[in-house]
Formats: sequence, structure tokens, C-alpha cells
Amino acid sequence: MNNKSTEEEEAVNLDDIGRLTFVRALFRGASLRCPACGRGRLFRGWFSMNNECSECQFGISRPPGYFLGSTYINYGATAFLTTATYITLHFGLQWPKEKLLPWMLVFCGIFPLVFFRFARSLWLSLDCLFDRVGASEAMSGFRRKQNDTQVENNDD
Ligand SMILES: [Zn+2]
Repeated sequence: MNNKSTEEEEAVNLDDIGRLTFVRALFRGASLRCPACGRGRLFRGWFSMNNECSECQFGISRPPGYFLGSTYINYGATAFLTTATYITLHFGLQWPKEKLLPWMLVFCGIFPLVFFRFARSLWLSLDCLFDRVGASEAMSGFRRKQNDTQVENNDD
């Protein structure tokens, strides 16, 4: 009976990944939620991620280098906001660049740290959107690893 409910939960979760739309992936990424179910939190601290979703056990931990792509999102957002702000304030509102540049430098130092979690979350959500097979494998692989660990623990 317990196995049946676990199988049903897994089926629902895999189906959730199948129904992941671009807007839903963006929303879940922007809200730092699990890309599979949209309920579990991805982070347990400012920079540390959970290994799995607390709601659906979707595997969040990834091999080293996986989240390198999130730096492109972070850099792109920082560059876009800096450029848009500079153009608006300097050319639109005629703010002198001597007063504007120090604040832009401070922004370029702080914003990437604040946006770090969102960039990672968006990267994971968009990866699950574009690589549904990989996301499903990550989920089933994580479950397999969990089961292996349980078997090892039972051997003791
Ligand atoms: Zn989840």
C-alpha cells in the first residue's frame, strides 16, 4: 500500500514536468520553487541549496559545473539593468555621469549577489523545461540513489 502511494506520487511529479510551460518555468524559477512541483523551496540558506525538493523529492543537487550556466543569466540581468538605468538616467534625465558611475559600480557589485539565487533557480527551471528527459532522469536517478542508500543502511 505504501509502495502504491509512492508510485502515484512519482507519476504525478513526472507529469508535472511534462506540463511545465515557459511561463510556469519562469514563475517557479523567479519564486525559487521546485521546477517539478512548484511547492518545495530550492534554497535552505542564502547560497546553499537543498539536495531534494521537500514536497516531491525532485533531485535538486547537480554535478559540479552544472550551475555555471546560471552566471550567464546573472551577468545578462546585471548588464541589462546597468545599461538601461544608465541610458535612462544619463540621457533621459540628464544626470551627470560623474555622479552616476559610482552608484552603477556599487550596483554591479551588489546586484549579482542578490540575484544569485534567482539566476540558479531560473537556470534549473529552464533546464527542466528544455530537457524534460534529463529532468525525469534526475528525478528517477535521485530516487534510485535514495533506494540504494536505504538498502545499504538496511545491510548494517
Ligand atoms: Zn518539488
